[in-house]
Amino acid sequence: MKIEKLLRKNIAALKPYSSARDEYTGEARVFLDANENPFNQPYNRYPDPLQREVKAKVSKLKNIDPGKVFLGNGSDEPIDLLIRAFCEPGTDNIVTIDPTYGMYQVAAEISGIELRKVPLTPDFEFDPKALLETCNAKTKLVFLCSPNNPTGNSLGKNSIVDVLQNFGGLVIVDEAYIDFAPGKTLLSDLDNYSNLVVLQTFSKAWGMAGIRLGMAFASPEIIAVLNKIKYPYNLNILTQQKALELLNQNEQVEEWVGLLIEEREKMAKKLQKLPFVVQVYPSDANFLLVKMYDARGIYEYLADNGIIVRDRSKVNLCDNSLRITIGSESENKILLKALKNLIS
Ligand code: PMP
Repeated sequence: MKIEKLLRKNIAALKPYSSARDEYTGEARVFLDANENPFNQPYNRYPDPLQREVKAKVSKLKNIDPGKVFLGNGSDEPIDLLIRAFCEPGTDNIVTIDPTYGMYQVAAEISGIELRKVPLTPDFEFDPKALLETCNAKTKLVFLCSPNNPTGNSLGKNSIVDVLQNFGGLVIVDEAYIDFAPGKTLLSDLDNYSNLVVLQTFSKAWGMAGIRLGMAFASPEIIAVLNKIKYPYNLNILTQQKALELLNQNEQVEEWVGLLIEEREKMAKKLQKLPFVVQVYPSDANFLLVKMYDARGIYEYLADNGIIVRDRSKVNLCDNSLRITIGSESENKILLKALKNLIS
């Protein structure tokens, strides 16, 4: 795939901003090149624009060459950057599944890009043929979220591969919840498909939503495009320092993931037994989508009791459904107790 041909012409021609820290990267006795304050606070200096230290750790963790890694202010940043790099406002379009994560649509609309939606089947699978038929010559990006938000299921690997092999633009597989779906990542397929972009985040299993750190993995050509158009210092020093510290916590994360998956399965069984629950959908993520007889009423009852879940009833195929994040064992017990109080 020729990335240069897929790019918007103005982005291909763009001469990127070159920051002081891009132009001189080594050590020095005195730095007088970036108009910084010399008095150490200690945050007076600009951060590394390419986050080399954090990237080295991420690349080791994921077993991926650092040249194939982009780090962003959450994975929302690469979603927006990919759209702005590849889609011409008013002309190009993006194709995704429906329902799915809402930011693809918002980011597309902000950029003046049409977003075409391909409905999932009632069991939340997607039909690659229908998706490919929805694409036309102006479709530059396909977004596939797996495990999908808000439905919780992973998309079929064969269907994703079908799109990778037969679509002429980039296929972005958003794996925000992949840590809860062991063995299902497409990361190891990066070398097989030059049009694959995998998004992951430290906001979920890794417990770092507050520091805003997301990842995009793709060919060095695609990563170079993202680096070309990002804000010069998109990840601040506090985020980079905290990430370096927290990235050593693999064992803690594995323990959390194990506990949350166990809780997810336990909660699914217990929720299914409640008389007002119609269906608990299978989940590969850290949440459950639960169909109920009166989702809005139950949402409001829970909120009155200080328990906040997400009402997804207005989302396609999710009528009367709540999306419930798996909390700690004690939080889940509080939720179950409140729901059981409704029947006694
Ligand atoms: N993708 C999906 C599917 C999500 O659900 C979310 C967060 N809700 C994101 C991406 C964005 O995550 P972040 O920006 O925190 O990395």
